Amino acid sequence: MAIVRLLDWSDRDKCLLLSLLLWGYMSFIFAWHLFTVNFTAFADEFLSAEGIDVMNQVMLFNQAGWIGLVIWGVLLRRSDRHSSFYPAVFMSFFAVGYLLLGWTFGLYSPMTGMVLMGSPLVGFILFGFRRVAWNFAFAVLVVLALAWLSVQGYSAHAIYFSKYPISQELLSYYWVGSTVAFMVPFIAAVITLVALLLGRWAYREAQVRDQALRDPLTRLSNRRELFCRLNHEVARARRSGRPLSVCLLDLDFFKRINDTYGHGVGDEVLVKVASVLKGNLRETDAVGRIGGEEFVLVLPETEQLGARRVVERCRTSIEASPVILADGSPLPVSASFGVVTWDPDEEADGHQLITRADEMLYRAKAGGRNRVEYCFGSVAAIVG
Ligand code: GH3
Ligand code: MG
Ligand code: MG
Repeated sequence: MAIVRLLDWSDRDKCLLLSLLLWGYMSFIFAWHLFTVNFTAFADEFLSAEGIDVMNQVMLFNQAGWIGLVIWGVLLRRSDRHSSFYPAVFMSFFAVGYLLLGWTFGLYSPMTGMVLMGSPLVGFILFGFRRVAWNFAFAVLVVLALAWLSVQGYSAHAIYFSKYPISQELLSYYWVGSTVAFMVPFIAAVITLVALLLGRWAYREAQVRDQALRDPLTRLSNRRELFCRLNHEVARARRSGRPLSVCLLDLDFFKRINDTYGHGVGDEVLVKVASVLKGNLRETDAVGRIGGEEFVLVLPETEQLGARRVVERCRTSIEASPVILADGSPLPVSASFGVVTWDPDEEADGHQLITRADEMLYRAKAGGRNRVEYCFGSVAAIVG
């Protein structure tokens, strides 16, 4: 995950990292140039003496610039300072340095296209739109100006070459292979960064979703998600005619627990009850905390008897799972439950189901707590 934070680095640190990478990339091309000139037949056949000379200068210019930018960045970091000039100079030097390279190799090459395409993308991701747009506009203007000069015969196109190694009659595999070798690291870097960005989006989206839909204390669904799920299940039951039960439960004398042992213990009780409820339900059931110490269970495909079995199991499990206090003594907890099973003939909506479950819960409280009251549709029923 550390690399995901790259996008949150300061401009200074991002520029320093990119300077290092681009310096390495330029050094790779420099090494390729020296090797090609000194050890290959390709140089004798395709390269011009003037072009080699120009390339030497372009390479030395790039080396000096990138080394300078790396040292500048390191010094800024060392002294813990930031400078708005640093990113500005970095971007301008990038444009000039790589355009010079493109100009010696020939601007109408796939590499120039790749750099013109990839660099603004990387720039937009790392530095925002405005600053990169200026540099991009500048680079495009320079490319167009150089193209115009070439057409007018003022500037040699692809000055590096005496004969162009990719033409109708001539095709140098050495050059094609070299072009690919130049492109692979660049494209890999761009793809990595874009993947990083997408990864971060997905991560943030998951975080936002989680915050919007979960209760932070118990990690259960919150009111919003629970009601959404309930309405979904009601719609499904209406369509399919399959049974559906809904249960509302409220912890007994919870205020007393808070008042006697403090809110910390109260929270512990809530977490414990949440885990007990989850442990007693099926994957397809939904459980959420919709208020302070009120929980809702949505039980699809569950008729009266099934609901009675599940809810009774939840009730006894809560009773049998006390929170252990700091002095080692158990703090017994219980809850009261109101359960309603959806009646297909009556077609109640989610809101009405909850209202009925609440009425049953009220009865359970009035009837002595730590118990369950049921109804089928709008009819309170003794089941079993
Ligand atoms: P009854 O058996 O009638 O339900 O009694 P009760 O004390 O549980 O009833 P009441 O609804 O009046 O009390 C709810 C209490 O829940 C009030 C509040 O202090 C507490 N509470 C609400 N939300 C939280 C929470 O997030 N954490 C903790 N620790 N307590 C909470
Ligand atoms: Mg209560
Ligand atoms: Mg309550």
